[in-house]
Amino acid sequence: MTADCLFCRIAAGEIPADIVAEDEGWVAFRDIQPQAPVHVLVIPRVHVESAADLETDSDLAGELLRAASVVARTEGLEQDGFRIVTNVGERAGQSVMHLHFHVLGGRRMRWPPG
Ligand code: AMP
Repeated sequence: MTADCLFCRIAAGEIPADIVAEDEGWVAFRDIQPQAPVHVLVIPRVHVESAADLETDSDLAGELLRAASVVARTEGLEQDGFRIVTNVGERAGQSVMHLHFHVLGGRRMRWPPG
């Protein structure tokens, strides 16, 4: 855990969040500023800065993607389609430097993203 990391503190239960699912290695909670009717973040409990650090940890990568698809199913998004996205670095829109996958659904998605 990194003491000054917001998502580490959410994972540790020090900062409240609307948790929808969790497991030994990850936590899923609702985004505080939802960009779609369903907007859940899936984070690892360990501090990993971004998906760029997954190059050496395919187990964690797989576990988080599996968690994201479980969340999508339990949120009822399977039929309608959904998006899993992760921003890497400030220029790509990453504002919290703890790896997270956004799970978005419940509305039609546009492409390309901005
Ligand atoms: P990103 O901009 O890709 O790094 O995504 C970070 C996300 O974290 C944004 O969508 C924020 O709305 C969300 N966020 C920031 N603080 C919190 C919080 N305390 N609880 C839930 N979501 C948060």
